[in-house]
Amino acid sequence: MSLVVDVFAARSDNFGYLAHDTASGRTAAIDAPEGPAIRAALERQGWRLTDIFITHHHQDHVEALAELKAEFGACVVGPRGESDKIAGLDELVAGGDRVMLGETAFKVYDAPGHTLGHIVYHDEKGGHLFTGDALFSLGVGRMFEGTPGPMWAGLQRLRELPDETLVYCGHEYTAANARFALSIDEDNPALRRRAEEVARLREKGEFTIPFVLGEDKRANPFLRADDADFARLYGLEGAEPAAVFAAMRRAKDAF
Ligand code: ZN
Ligand code: FE
Repeated sequence: MSLVVDVFAARSDNFGYLAHDTASGRTAAIDAPEGPAIRAALERQGWRLTDIFITHHHQDHVEALAELKAEFGACVVGPRGESDKIAGLDELVAGGDRVMLGETAFKVYDAPGHTLGHIVYHDEKGGHLFTGDALFSLGVGRMFEGTPGPMWAGLQRLRELPDETLVYCGHEYTAANARFALSIDEDNPALRRRAEEVARLREKGEFTIPFVLGEDKRANPFLRADDADFARLYGLEGAEPAAVFAAMRRAKDAF
């Protein structure tokens, strides 16, 4: 008995995910980017939607929430810190909470920065992590609402999860992230390996998701903001890693 994940494209560059608990038959949509794409995935798998887990309040992650809830009577779980921005949440959660999907337990982590209340969902037993727009392959979400300190702290918590964890993020941004990462860390063998793999996958029209957290820990510069090389690069020797992280995030915004 385990969790099975269905990955599909939605909107222009979003990912949609269905997480299916084989023991109970319960199925959760991770975020609600687009009704037709989610319905098609459900039909393809022969699953019935019972739950929706929301990571953050942005429109491209909640747009189909109301219609799916009305159609399936799904139970909607979402971030307590953004309950005023998301209509239709049934269960409010925050870092440290546990959410059940049938027999599968998800631990919730706070990952603020892209939005203030952003949360991620970790299936500890199966090793699946749903990160929304907090952590991407080779990158992180744009810092729209948060500040560098808490954003860096949240990423450090995710960095402590096991290397074999499979990460499912909100967008297919990996190729663009690789270009920026190589521009500041071109000699990193783990990054070069991943960039080549991404180029191959994109050439074949395949997804770069899920990705392996352990590889991203070595290849994603935003998970390595406490590496002295980056402090030197930005002229911030001796500064807090959060300050280096902020400089790196600013550089990516302007890239
Ligand atoms: Zn977003
Ligand atoms: Fe998004």
